[in-house]
Amino acid sequence: MIRTIWKDILPEEAGHAQCHEHIWLNRGASYKVNPALCMDSREKSLQELTDYYRAGGRLIVDAQPTGCGRNAHMLAELSRESGVYIVSAAGFHKKEFFDQLLLFSWPEDKLAELYTKEIQTGITDSGQESFLYRAGILKAAADKDWQTDPVYHKLFEAVAQAAVQTGAPVMIHTEKGNDILKIIRWFQDRGISPRKLLICHLDRTHYDSSYHREVLSTGCCLCYDSIHRLKYISEQQETELLCSMKQSGFLEQIVLSLDTTGQRLRAYDAEDMGLDYILCTFIPRLVKLGFTAEEIRQMCVANAARILDFA
Ligand SMILES: [Zn+2]
Repeated sequence: MIRTIWKDILPEEAGHAQCHEHIWLNRGASYKVNPALCMDSREKSLQELTDYYRAGGRLIVDAQPTGCGRNAHMLAELSRESGVYIVSAAGFHKKEFFDQLLLFSWPEDKLAELYTKEIQTGITDSGQESFLYRAGILKAAADKDWQTDPVYHKLFEAVAQAAVQTGAPVMIHTEKGNDILKIIRWFQDRGISPRKLLICHLDRTHYDSSYHREVLSTGCCLCYDSIHRLKYISEQQETELLCSMKQSGFLEQIVLSLDTTGQRLRAYDAEDMGLDYILCTFIPRLVKLGFTAEEIRQMCVANAARILDFA
């Protein structure tokens, strides 16, 4: 079962999926960090989702978690109207993105209870709990000081507790210099299998492909979500990385995404790129490089459905 914001679906219903996107972000703390980190036009977000659906897109994960500008009601409306399933996240992002600083003073167990509730019974946004909407993935942000900072310590422990309670998958934001194997072991020590972990951003934080192989050997899934983020990685580097993972037999553990912001999306009057970029431009490029339809289906459909499945 995959838990989308307003409806549980079967894994085989998911279709083409992108597991780390942003389609709505209230104007709040993130906006103050970077004005690009705001997406609050219903019309523009709907346009992106409609174009995505038309290109063959069926599901996205909206990676904005609890207390960080997430808007469950809007995600549900956008999903219903566009036909694109949206999986919402419970858990935490980096501290600088928090609107609800109050959460930092909560004890670990209370945070774990909130995250568990958001997965099982209802999401709380802006202090309001709604039983109509539920989160379908947990998020943890491995900021540079994730192991030494006491607030991160609590937040990590709370996500781990909620993952054990609910069986939900866990997506992990990573930073340059993070010891990814250590993060994976940390979750394993708390009873969470690497197969439930979706490690994000490695295509822009760790350029050494042999390190990717080492990480993948644990059984986790990698989200290559820096596609067309050219300030981090060129399209050629991105495709070389994918070819290298394919040659090593790791395609069954890779999913593709854009990790969009308002600054990058066509409907938000930004770059000439839409949420449909992978479908319309990147996949045809992979086909030219010799990727078969089956290999693309594996990454964009089968792997995505497997990592999002609560089973
Ligand atoms: Zn993101």
